[in-house]
Amino acid sequence: MAGLAALVGGSLAALLAALVGLLAAGWYHLVNLYRLVQWTREPVGTPLPRAAGTWGKVFADMSRRSRLAYDMRERLAATLDRFRDASQAMPDGVMYLAESDTIEWMNLKAEQHFGLDHTRDIGAPVTNLVRQPAFVQYLHGGHYEESLVLPSTRPGGLTLQVQVIPFGDGQKMVLSRDISQLERLETMRQDFVANVSHELRTPLTVVGGFLETLIDGAGDFEPDDVQRYLRLALEQSNRMRHLIEDLLTLSALETGAPAPAEERVGVATLVRDVYAEAEALSSGRHQLSLVLDTDAVLLGSHKELRSAFANLCSNAVRYTPDGGRIEVGWRQDDAGGEFWVRDDGIGIDAQHIPRLTERFYRVDRGRSRETGGTGLGLAIVKHILTRHQAELHVVSTPGAGSRFSVRFPRARLMQPKAAALRS
Ligand code: ADP
Repeated sequence: MAGLAALVGGSLAALLAALVGLLAAGWYHLVNLYRLVQWTREPVGTPLPRAAGTWGKVFADMSRRSRLAYDMRERLAATLDRFRDASQAMPDGVMYLAESDTIEWMNLKAEQHFGLDHTRDIGAPVTNLVRQPAFVQYLHGGHYEESLVLPSTRPGGLTLQVQVIPFGDGQKMVLSRDISQLERLETMRQDFVANVSHELRTPLTVVGGFLETLIDGAGDFEPDDVQRYLRLALEQSNRMRHLIEDLLTLSALETGAPAPAEERVGVATLVRDVYAEAEALSSGRHQLSLVLDTDAVLLGSHKELRSAFANLCSNAVRYTPDGGRIEVGWRQDDAGGEFWVRDDGIGIDAQHIPRLTERFYRVDRGRSRETGGTGLGLAIVKHILTRHQAELHVVSTPGAGSRFSVRFPRARLMQPKAAALRS
């Protein structure tokens, strides 16, 4: 009996021990499962909890995998950032479109080109925002071998060159480039060719007309008439020669001509020379005066400076009616030197002044032609002055006269004693 009781007691104890063991194992699993669940709620990159036994192995394995995934994610994020930075730094606009042509990403240049805002427009269909029919047609047309030139819809806006590059699964990259400056240059080039052709055609027509008249009436004309016609034809051919000379000068100045030689140009001699030329051109029709008391020396190209100063003097003579006064002078102070030509001639209306240095810009075309002008003089002056870091200033009142002055910076002037004068 006692043996049976001992047997039952032993089995109960074993059962209890097994129960306690089971409970402990369950508790162990529950606790670690709970810790695992808690961990999944932590931010990515949080280390896994430590544990003993099987869970320890599970945690260690998961920890290794999680670290690998985390590193990979970091590397991908860094690559994406670098890629975005590169796209952001591009001088062109870059925009990515998803399959439905909704904007996925764009750089700052694309925002500027199309007037978009990434904080508002990401996710919107691009054609809802860029509605120009040419763009919509190009995007939907699917023929992207050639780029599209998209003119601005408002004055002074940008002209864009747009290129779509399809990639992936129906995605598109839209590249945009601002070609406004190129367009402006192209317009300028076309205007220039038209102007040159017009300027040359006019005297050529006159010369041709005289020659025809002389041929048709050969024998009928008095020698004096023939002389007159020939003189007029010569005048026109001189005009063409002047124009071509001015064009060549301008193109030499514009197209990579070497920087002005650092010659030492004696201002007094230079100004006296151009003054003498102005006197000869005026041939007594104007009262000329010279204000000059300097031993200054300019650093630059003697030929170019002479051409610029002579141009301003010749304009004063040509645009001042007979009997008018013209003053030519030079002065200097600590800031630099100034050459000026003042006249009491026809003057210039304020609206024309900013445009005077444009090629072929004339206030009065007829008067310019009559006096042998080509419309290129001040354009040449402007180029020469820019190459000498000098500035042209014009003050003028219609009917009262003008003052054209050239200001040279201090750096272009030399201490006279140190300079061995050229002239
Ligand atoms: P142009 O060969 O016609 O004189 P410029 O380039 O030298 O060409 O000058 C451009 C225009 O500026 C002239 O056509 C003229 O209308 C105006 N201009 C230049 N100098 C004077 C001046 N001293 N007085 C009045 N108008 C002037």
